[in-house]
Amino acid sequence: MAWLHWQIATNNPNQPSPIEWDDFAGKLLLVLPKRNVQKIELASFPAKGHRRLRWLLPNVDPEYCSQDEAVKVAKKLAFLMLNSQGSSIPQNLEEDFLVLGFRKEVTKCPLCKKEINITDFDRNGNTDLESLQIDHEIPLSQQLGSHNADNVFWIHRRCNYIKGEQTTKDALMSLVELIRNHLV
Ligand SMILES: [Zn+2]
Repeated sequence: MAWLHWQIATNNPNQPSPIEWDDFAGKLLLVLPKRNVQKIELASFPAKGHRRLRWLLPNVDPEYCSQDEAVKVAKKLAFLMLNSQGSSIPQNLEEDFLVLGFRKEVTKCPLCKKEINITDFDRNGNTDLESLQIDHEIPLSQQLGSHNADNVFWIHRRCNYIKGEQTTKDALMSLVELIRNHLV
């Protein structure tokens, strides 16, 4: 999978993160546990190659995305997390999300359409198939620039396995075909 080629950056106190994200993450930390904010960061700011820091990526990396877009991705994932069951969008962030044009609705897994609960973000990502991962509706391997805010969602680990390197629509079509094959 294309995603595996991107190595997650390590925390390094000597490397400042983008100020725009720092400010935003500060607001998030008032309403979300640190582990959830870190989950958003790890999903949004992976760095290519060896253990380079995510903030050291060139501003425009044709293979990846700009730092600005990575910040937007992080905000979208934060929005979806705060919109999940058992959570809510704090007033001081409503304006930020409004500016970005994110539509308020219950957060669902893009494949199985089950509603996501805020506690699902605490599931063990190594063992629990109901744990949540980042989804690129159009896979990174299919289109350059697909790490963007419009294209990212939270998806169950199980659903991400099923989806693989397909768009959501193609994944559904292949499931329909699979079921048809079992019915004949
Ligand atoms: Zn699902």
